[in-house]
Amino acid sequence: MTPPDEPILPGSTLGVLGGGQLGRMFVHAAQAMGYRTAVLDADPESPAGLVSQHHICTGYDDPQGLAELARLSAAVTTEFENVPAAALAALAAQCPVSPAAAAVAVAQDRVQEKAHFARCGVACAPYAVVETAAQLATVPAALLPGILKTARLGYDGKGQVRVPTAGALAAAWDALGRQPCVLEKMLPLALECSVIVARGADGTIVHLPVQRNLHRGGILAVTEVFAGNLPRALAERALAAAMAIADGLQYVGVLCTEFFVLQDGSLLVNEIAPRPHNSGHYSQDACDLSQFELQLRTLARLPLTPPRQHSPAVMLNLLGDLWFAPGGGEQPPPWAAVLALPGTRLHLYGKREARRGRKMGHLNVSGATPEAARATALQAAALLGIEAF
Ligand code: ATP
Ligand code: MG
Repeated sequence: MTPPDEPILPGSTLGVLGGGQLGRMFVHAAQAMGYRTAVLDADPESPAGLVSQHHICTGYDDPQGLAELARLSAAVTTEFENVPAAALAALAAQCPVSPAAAAVAVAQDRVQEKAHFARCGVACAPYAVVETAAQLATVPAALLPGILKTARLGYDGKGQVRVPTAGALAAAWDALGRQPCVLEKMLPLALECSVIVARGADGTIVHLPVQRNLHRGGILAVTEVFAGNLPRALAERALAAAMAIADGLQYVGVLCTEFFVLQDGSLLVNEIAPRPHNSGHYSQDACDLSQFELQLRTLARLPLTPPRQHSPAVMLNLLGDLWFAPGGGEQPPPWAAVLALPGTRLHLYGKREARRGRKMGHLNVSGATPEAARATALQAAALLGIEAF
């Protein structure tokens, strides 16, 4: 076993809890540097399991599966924030794990997450905790219209119900199974942005440039990253807040912080993801270090150097909807026409079945100038049937 302060060198095996697309892209990055990988995911066809040297097909809570992952791996990371924190804690008793279970537990729970933001002095949307009928009955009227969100296990806008009036609150809580929730005030968003940082065990912290994100139907649709896409002062505030949040967690690994920018220019933190993030995918093709290489470096205790973006970038998310022609019937999108546009790189996750709202892949577009990257991305969007932005 590698001593705890020394780098884990290429040739070693790195483990990933979770076999989704984020795990797959971590596996690709690790393999490109000569590491071997082990993925734990119950799905025999999971995107990461399909490309990893080892694939342990068990649930996250299977002690034997976890022990096998620890036995194979010099260190283990996670790609999915809903991995039970108990599984990470059990693994940590057997091998190095980052991010730590305690940090993942904060990101898994909107109530704890918001308490952490307050500790770090970073403002979030006005909210109330709704865990009991009594709390539901005393929700301040000023929070309406609002969004009721389950405290745990939400993603891609799932586990959320919009609540127009106080009268609609009880039905919304019923619809979410009366689980512990937070009610957030519905805010007038001017735009959304996110920041990805990588923090090493020694406290070194580096970041990618601030990403500007467009969500549609609660799911990320487009990310744009280039100079001038956000006011500089705003980007600096977002960076400072993201670093404070990571430092406050003593975080080791890649952390994404999502922000809301309101029409009056104020910046509020939305949520954190304890892993690489959809809004960081452009870094694969537009930066000298991708978010997955940063994850690898933090896990393997390799030096963290500041990533540099070398090309203006636009990322288009490719949802399963694109496989369904307007008149019905399923067909692959026009890849050849899209790839005929200079500066496009297609990433698909190897999912067999396209479903509406399912993340199937993404298209990274880069260009010599922001205008060129945007123009190409808009052409690609038109070919794919993605609404212009
Ligand atoms: P993901 O996992 O994709 O990040 P999620 O299910 O965790 O999504 P949120 O990030 O809470 O969901 O919300 C998804 C989107 O819904 C936000 O990016 C934003 O566009 C919108 N949204 C969420 N909360 C609010 C709010 N309080 N006011 C206005 N819009 C909001
Ligand atoms: Mg979100």
